[in-house]
Amino acid sequence: MHWLTESILKIILMMRTELKRAKEDYGRVVLLNHGNGEGLGPTRDNMKNNLSINEILKTFFGYEKFRVGQEEIINHLLEKKENISVVMPTGGGKSLCYQIPAIKADNISIVVSPLISLIKDQVSALNQNNIEAIGLHSEYSKEEILEIEKKIKKGKYKIIYLSPERLMAERNLKLFGALSIDFIFVDESHCISKWGNDFRESYYQLRELKNIFPDTVIGAFTATADKVTQDDISNLLYDDKGKTFVFGFDRDNINLKVISKSREKKSQQNQIINLIKDKSGSVGLIYCFTRKETEEIAVFLRSKNFNAYSYHAGMHSNEKEKVQSRFMEEDDIIVVATVAFGMGIDKSNVRYVIHSTIPDSMESFYQEVGRAGRDGKPSESIVLYDAFVDVARRRRMISRNDEGKKSENQIILQHQKLNSFLNYCESAHCRKISIIGYFGEQAKKCNNCDNCENSPKLVEMTSEARRLLIAVIYTGENFGLKYVIDVMLGKQDQRIYNNNHDKIKVFGAGLEFGKEDYWRSLCRQLIAINYINIDLTTFAIPKVTNSGRKFLKNNETYKGKKIIPIANDSGVLKIKKINPEIETNHWSDFETKLFEKLKSLRLEIAREEKKPAFIIFSNDTLQEMVKEKPQTIKEFLKVHGVGKFKADKFGDRFINIIK
Ligand SMILES: [Zn+2]
Repeated sequence: MHWLTESILKIILMMRTELKRAKEDYGRVVLLNHGNGEGLGPTRDNMKNNLSINEILKTFFGYEKFRVGQEEIINHLLEKKENISVVMPTGGGKSLCYQIPAIKADNISIVVSPLISLIKDQVSALNQNNIEAIGLHSEYSKEEILEIEKKIKKGKYKIIYLSPERLMAERNLKLFGALSIDFIFVDESHCISKWGNDFRESYYQLRELKNIFPDTVIGAFTATADKVTQDDISNLLYDDKGKTFVFGFDRDNINLKVISKSREKKSQQNQIINLIKDKSGSVGLIYCFTRKETEEIAVFLRSKNFNAYSYHAGMHSNEKEKVQSRFMEEDDIIVVATVAFGMGIDKSNVRYVIHSTIPDSMESFYQEVGRAGRDGKPSESIVLYDAFVDVARRRRMISRNDEGKKSENQIILQHQKLNSFLNYCESAHCRKISIIGYFGEQAKKCNNCDNCENSPKLVEMTSEARRLLIAVIYTGENFGLKYVIDVMLGKQDQRIYNNNHDKIKVFGAGLEFGKEDYWRSLCRQLIAINYINIDLTTFAIPKVTNSGRKFLKNNETYKGKKIIPIANDSGVLKIKKINPEIETNHWSDFETKLFEKLKSLRLEIAREEKKPAFIIFSNDTLQEMVKEKPQTIKEFLKVHGVGKFKADKFGDRFINIIK
């Protein structure tokens, strides 16, 4: 325990023991004597504590029914009081799984969350529903923090959000050490594991929580953890004394596709236009590799009259907030972003997610795709796959070791994670099976991916594969793929003559199979099964791996995807047009106007409350108001997304407009 000195830990543990004794003596005393006799911790809020979890769901969140897994998790926490680790895809309703137990609990619950923006959104949404929550973060001044701490001691808050760094700071450990803490919830819990795809040292320190708060139930939540990471989370956070739940990686409504990416920038942009032109008027996300790319694509799309904005970590925070709130507000918006965009963003009607470059792992991919189709309506995931430049860029990024921050093992692990995503791209089988399998679950053939709809033919290509591998070896593993292919195609090239490569046995041996595209495509397949590795430390030089050599030596056979020559430059497959069935399609003029009026009222309230509009009511909720036209508070309460508190507070104003 390097950052906490033994003596501080001793003090905290002493406080915990004293607290336990006091609790036993007085039944339920929450706070130790802080000298000024202020408060005894949270007074039991009978109203909230006595409600059933279903009543809490309706009253505070406005939902009628739990989603898959939520009830089981909540009951497990409340009844068994056992540590848990939950893996649930984004959009599955993770936060409710810890917020409801926290609301029902007698004492304080702590939520550890990595980002201020995430903390602010969740706290704001809870406060809007009359739940006493606060975030302890750096946007408060010292004086404000002191004030908040006082209130925490007085038991004014049920849920306290903070970052791992803050929680593990001496000051806060002392603060919470003296209080009764029923639950500690760790959001984005995969960050604690070195096997996860976003390891953070500050999360790793959370492994001490089990020693500091031995009587507190720990709940870990993540949207993304493979089996090894899952095991690591439960081991680090609570010594495996608990249960892991894995829920719902099955999202039947998302159609999965991988398309080979055009090579020149101009045709890449046209490729994107071709993909989205049928989808104008719906919401989309386009993920890019660099900040510059996000800007270029957004500018290009705007020039073609699309409502597109770029988003990346380098933008000013005002700008970022503007794009985020537009995204929540508008129903025809496209955000072109780096991975920076998305954490904590919850919009139900995202119709497509396009990866204009491959993500760094299956975990990132799943998180990003998980932002599509949360309303359950048909949506699409499209990956534009370029096995050369893009894979090389990713590999270079992984291998770059800024000031030795990464260990050798971490670098190897990240390469492996990228490989598993490349397998997804090259796979000739159902893509859903390959995603779900990655997270340790089983799935049936989905019939909703390009491979299911149009299964690629597997053909024997042993001879071709051998020739390509031999060409790579015989040219000395010293040249780019273009050169190797030129040799195979027997090109009349001075460089080839100078190197005497017109003398090797594979010179011209590729002609009978196909041209350059054919060999590039085969090379991609061989990269995906790890026969060829692209060396990035030089200029993306293909090298034959040990398994590639074994294949040659043992005369193994290779069956691969039949390679069909690329017909045109864009390489675009025919995309099925999706019909998102937006309710507004069937609206009368009156209803369209009503929707606009409700939106302006929402904006007015948002300004009064100084909250983003989507925190007041989502677009889905407003649309349902238009459809149902509630005339009384009772009817208003039936609208999906309207809870008791919001109905009391804003109901009359909305009903007046509807009437
Ligand atoms: Zn499938």
